Amino acid sequence: MMQTTAVVVGAGHAGLAMSRRLTERSIDHVVLERGEVANSWRTQRWPSLRLLTPNWQTRLPGHGYAGDDPDGYMPAADVVATLTRYARLVGAPVRTATTVHTVRVASGGFQIRANDDLLHARAVVLATGACNLPAFPGIADAIPLSITTLTPLTYRDPGQLPAGGVLVVGASATGVQLASEIHRSGRPVTLAAGEHVRLPRTYRGRDIFWWMQATGLLAERYDQIDDLTRARHLPSPQLTGTTSSTITDLNRLMAMGIRIVGRLGRIIDGVAQFSGSLANTCALADLKMNRFLNRADQWATTHSLDDELPPPHRFAPTRVDPRAPLELDLTSGEITTVLWATGFRPDHSWLDIPVRDRAGRIAHNGGVVTGASGLYLLGMPVLRTRASTYIHGAAADTSALADHLHSFLSSQRRSQPAPSLASAGRHPSHS
Ligand SMILES: Cc1cc2nc3c(=O)[nH]c(=O)nc-3n(C[C@H](O)[C@H](O)[C@H](O)COP(=O)(O)OP(=O)(O)OC[C@H]3O[C@@H](n4cnc5c(N)ncnc54)[C@H](O)[C@@H]3O)c2cc1C
Repeated sequence: MMQTTAVVVGAGHAGLAMSRRLTERSIDHVVLERGEVANSWRTQRWPSLRLLTPNWQTRLPGHGYAGDDPDGYMPAADVVATLTRYARLVGAPVRTATTVHTVRVASGGFQIRANDDLLHARAVVLATGACNLPAFPGIADAIPLSITTLTPLTYRDPGQLPAGGVLVVGASATGVQLASEIHRSGRPVTLAAGEHVRLPRTYRGRDIFWWMQATGLLAERYDQIDDLTRARHLPSPQLTGTTSSTITDLNRLMAMGIRIVGRLGRIIDGVAQFSGSLANTCALADLKMNRFLNRADQWATTHSLDDELPPPHRFAPTRVDPRAPLELDLTSGEITTVLWATGFRPDHSWLDIPVRDRAGRIAHNGGVVTGASGLYLLGMPVLRTRASTYIHGAAADTSALADHLHSFLSSQRRSQPAPSLASAGRHPSHS
């Protein structure tokens, strides 16, 4: 059995950043990856996808954006190229085509079964990402069999869809982007919008992510957020990686000719029923957007930037079509495809250690897994700060968790205790 000090599972941006942190601390490790480096970006993202975050923000420990378009938005193919270069730059010891099938507690650490090999490590970092599987509502099973169903993980481009109308369920970044792209291909699109996050691409001449960073929103820590579960499950903001439009909101989609309906609540005998509370949902999204813009304006004033920046302004409230249907017969032939843009979920089914909470999620405190010393989690939304949801957040997260892992190894060396499922991890220091 191969012995190593630490195993990192997954060579996405989070696993690679952790590898760099472990190398900095002279911790011997290996990164196990079922595909190639940046596998999710190679195989699970639709080709036209561009990052929502601007290029200047796509930075990793020891690596900043060096191209000539800092305010642009990277296409998925460039994310692959960036991560591939990064893996080389940091000399990450990645074993590609190596699928982890089980991780178990073993004497002195963990036993990992990857392909047909067994490895032993004193610490394991779970960096397999937050978006391995699509998250569907239970009603997905009630879709008539005649309808083609897709998820963002299986969607590539409108050419793969049958002729006919498309129902996109979910108005997050994914939902609005795919609804626009499919509409542009000439198909009639209906978008079912539940709770969503409305934000402009730019405000007062700056990218919205510039404002999120400047105002300190992205730096808000997980242990200071009132409703952490809610923060971790917020839909992604209605943004597109382009500056061709200031805002990609429901008003814009409606102006393009996309039909907006309420949240898809039920499907009974093939009839989709939409919530009648679309106006309230939209009013709430408008209110929250304006709350953030107020915060941005206050910040600009406090930092004496009002003369430098264009003046504050507000966007028109979301218009709701009073004729928006509350029902759609999915057996009528009008709709031939349903695209579930209802979010993603992680897949840790291979983790054979009882560390899940009642909702089936891995219980952790800022990435330190609760109940299994030496086990760490990365790449989850709002893991340690709101920035954890994005690529650049991995810098601070991996620094804090690598420090914790380093002290865990040192304390283990001093006391040589038997590994224990019961000994919960200490809280890492925040960096
Ligand atoms: C649609 C979409 C849009 C996004 N847009 C942005 C954006 O604009 N800006 C931004 O900063 N971030 C964006 N994100 C990225 C998001 O930040 C990352 O998906 C998330 O943070 C997870 O990254 P990761 O490195 O943890 O996981 P991933 O990049 O998913 O990497 C995990 C790796 O683990 C491997 N793996 C999984 N299971 C196993 C196993 N059992 N054995 C071995 N290997 C395994 C996978 O093959 C994969 O390579 C977007 C994500 C999605 C889905």
